[in-house]
Amino acid sequence: MSTEGKRGEYNRHSSEVDTNKVEKDLIIQARKLVQSKSGVFDPDEETYRGRSRSVDRDKGLPTIPRQDSDAQIPTMEDSYRSLLKSVGEDPNRQGLQKTPERAAKALMFFTKGYEEKLQDLLNDAIFDEDHDEMVIVRDIEMFSMCEHHLVPFVGKVSIGYIPNKRVIGLSKVARIVEMFSRRLQVQERLTKQIALALTEAVKPTGVGVVIEASHMCMVMRGVQKLNSQTVTSCMLGVFREDSKTREEFLTLLRR
Ligand SMILES: [Zn+2]
Repeated sequence: MSTEGKRGEYNRHSSEVDTNKVEKDLIIQARKLVQSKSGVFDPDEETYRGRSRSVDRDKGLPTIPRQDSDAQIPTMEDSYRSLLKSVGEDPNRQGLQKTPERAAKALMFFTKGYEEKLQDLLNDAIFDEDHDEMVIVRDIEMFSMCEHHLVPFVGKVSIGYIPNKRVIGLSKVARIVEMFSRRLQVQERLTKQIALALTEAVKPTGVGVVIEASHMCMVMRGVQKLNSQTVTSCMLGVFREDSKTREEFLTLLRR
């Protein structure tokens, strides 16, 4: 498959638009794509009738891009010092003296997805291409943070889509994963956000996203065996409506 081609006309978001607006647009677009056949979705009211499973789509989308991370570090250091005392440690002993600062910077890195905007990421990466066969990017490494326990969950993301006259640069697919995984997350929402972002980016005929991950909050607390995986998927458009397309995608993932 090729991503070469004429530059796309993806200028809709070329001016400064806040992340909230873009991500809200993204959700509306994706809903239209998914629901256009059944007519269940009412775009004016942005509501569903009788489809409660889709109502939670807005939840957890950050509203304001994080700015000036460095300014937050001293406050975070104080918090980490306090946490160290709480667990029974002496924050002043030699080995821990720099720990609050390191931990604060590490947490900022683990959540750097809050500083990214989807439209910045997509700039110059959407191409017109007369290709309508399934495109799959498999086993993208993913590192995220469970929002319930603030410990990591790590795994692999596989993404498939069927282009509709537009393709996205393949490296950008991994960047979309990075943008949403470097936030406080639950795996289900992460899966959905990646699918919706790709939908917004290329308006494909369909999108499928599968994430397999291991959650440290489960593994380290002994709830789960070390190697057990949590699998989530999100299928939109033809991936949802057509079982053959979905099967083809899942078969290609198993190869
Ligand atoms: Zn957890």
